[in-house]
Amino acid sequence: MFKKIFRASFLLTSLVLFFAVLLSAIVLSIDFDHTEMSALASQADLAASGVNTSGKKYIKNLKGENYRITWINSKGKVLYDNEENPKKMGNHSRREEVAEAMKKGTGTSERYSTTLSTVTMYYAERLNDGGVIRIAITRNSFWRILVRFLSPLLLIMLLSVLVSWFLAKTISQTIVKPLNEMDLDKPLESNAYDEIKPLLTRLDSQNKQIADQMEQLHHREKELKTVTDAMLEGLILIDLDDQILLSNPAVVSLLGLHDTDPLPDDVKEIIDKNSRLAHAEGIVERNGRNIQISASPITSRKILKGTSILVVDVTKEYHEEQVRREFTANVSHELKTPLQSIMGSAELLENHLVKEEDRDSFYKKIHESSAQLLTLIDDIIRLSHLDENQRFEEIKLNLKSPVTEALEALQSSADRHGIKLETNLSDTMILANFRLVYEIAYNLIDNSIRYNKEKGKTKITVKEHRGQAILQVADTGIGIPQEAQNRIFERFYRVDKSHSRKTGGTGLGLSIVKHAVQQCHGTIRLESELGKGSTFTVIFPALPAGADDNSK
Ligand code: ADP
Repeated sequence: MFKKIFRASFLLTSLVLFFAVLLSAIVLSIDFDHTEMSALASQADLAASGVNTSGKKYIKNLKGENYRITWINSKGKVLYDNEENPKKMGNHSRREEVAEAMKKGTGTSERYSTTLSTVTMYYAERLNDGGVIRIAITRNSFWRILVRFLSPLLLIMLLSVLVSWFLAKTISQTIVKPLNEMDLDKPLESNAYDEIKPLLTRLDSQNKQIADQMEQLHHREKELKTVTDAMLEGLILIDLDDQILLSNPAVVSLLGLHDTDPLPDDVKEIIDKNSRLAHAEGIVERNGRNIQISASPITSRKILKGTSILVVDVTKEYHEEQVRREFTANVSHELKTPLQSIMGSAELLENHLVKEEDRDSFYKKIHESSAQLLTLIDDIIRLSHLDENQRFEEIKLNLKSPVTEALEALQSSADRHGIKLETNLSDTMILANFRLVYEIAYNLIDNSIRYNKEKGKTKITVKEHRGQAILQVADTGIGIPQEAQNRIFERFYRVDKSHSRKTGGTGLGLSIVKHAVQQCHGTIRLESELGKGSTFTVIFPALPAGADDNSK
C-alpha cells in the first residue's frame, strides 16, 4: 500500500512540477513575443513619424539601432535598409507584413529560419505617401532557447524530481502510518480515518463472530475430550494417510499406542480388510489380552475422509466364549457315556441275551447310569442358572442354618462311607441367598466324604472372625496334587476321572461352588496336601451379630 501511494503521489507531483515548468516557459515565451512586438510597434511609430516629417534625412541619421529598419515606397521598392544594400533587395510589396500595412495601415508577421533556429518578427506601418516603414528583430527561436537552457532546466527538473520524491514519501508515510498503527483486534479503538469507519465496524463485528465461533469450537472440543477421556473403550480417528487425528487415553492403556506413534501393522491389517469402505472387525493381542478392533469409514458427501476405530478389551468375553465352547463339547461327551451304558444294557435285556441270574446287575446298572444322568443334568441346570448372572434374592441368615441342612442331607452318605462328620458351628449372620449357601456347603461336604480315606473324618466349622463369616470344610482324605489345585474349579476337571464317576461325581461340583461363592460376594481358598487331606475355606462378609435370621 505504501508503495502504491508513494508511486502515485510521486508520479503526480513529478507531472505537476514538470507541466508547471513547461507551461511557465510557454507563457513566458508568449509574453516575451507580445512585449517584443509592442516594442517593435512603438519603434515603427517613431520611425514612421520621423520619415513622414524629415524623409531621407531622418533615416540617414539613424545609427546604432538594435533593429533592422527597411523603407519601402508605395510600389514595394526598397529605398533604404540599415543592414543590406537596397539595390540587391527585391520588391517587397508582396511581403506579408508590408502588404498588410499597405492595406490596413499596420502589418505584422513572423518568419522562422529552421537552419539558423531563429525567428524574425516584423512590424510594418504605412507612411503618409503610401510607402511603408518596417522594423524587424531577429532572435533565437523558442526551441533554441530551450536547448540553450537545457542544463539549468534539467537541473530544475532533477531538483523537482527530488522534491517530488521527498513529498511523495512524506505523504505516503503520513497516510499509511495511522493504518499501520491500527490494532486490528480492536479496530473501533483506533480513529485512523473516518472514511474507513464502515470497514472497521465490519471488521469488528467479524472479529466478534470469529471469537464466538472459536469459543464454541473450544467448548465442543472440551466436551468431546471429556467424553472420550472418560470412555473405557479406546477411540482413534485416522486420516487417509493413517495419521492419528484423535485418540483417547484408553487407547494408550489398551494398545500402548500414543497419538504420535504409527498405526500398528496388525491393526492396519484389520481395517484394510474391506478396503476401508465398509465396517471391519478383528482381534489383536496385547500383553496376553484380547483387544477387539472395530473400524468404520468416515465419509463426507460420499467421499472417504478417514476411519474411526473403536478399541475394546474383550478378554473376558473371549475367554468365556472359549469356556462355553469347551463346556458344550464336554457336556455332550459326559451325557453320552451314561446314555450309552443305559442303551447297551437295555438292548441286551430286550433281546434276552442276559442270563436270568445277571439281570439284576443290568437293572442296577441302568438305574445307576440314569441317576448319574439326572445328577449331571441337575448340575448343568444349576450351573447355567448361576452363569446367567441373574440376581438371587439375598436375606439375612445364620450361616449355621444352610450348613446344618446340608449336613443332615449327607449324614447317611457319611455313615455309608464310614466317615465321621465333626462340627463346630457358631451363630454367624450373613446376607446371602439360602439356596446358594446350601449348595456350597453340600458340595464341599459331599466331596470331603467321597474323596476321604476309610474311617476318615471331616471337620466342619462355622465362625465369625474379624468381621468375616467363615465356613471351613477340612477332611483327612486323599488330598489334591499341587498342580491340580488351581484347576479343580474348572468345569469337568477331575484329578481321577474313574474315582469321581465311581462315587457319582459329575466334575461340576466345584464349578457350582465357585460361582455360588461369587454370587454371595465371598471368596474361596484351598489348602491341600497329597495323602493328608484338603481344607476348603469360604469367606463371606459378616453382618453384625444381632441381625435377625430371616431364613426361619
Ligand atoms: P466331582 O463331581 O468330580 O467331585 P468336583 O468339581 O466337585 O467334581 O471336583 C473336582 C475334582 O476335584 C474331583 O474330581 C476331585 O478330583 C477333586 N476334589 C474335589 N474335592 C476334593 C477333596 N475334598 N479331596 C480330594 N480331591 C477333591
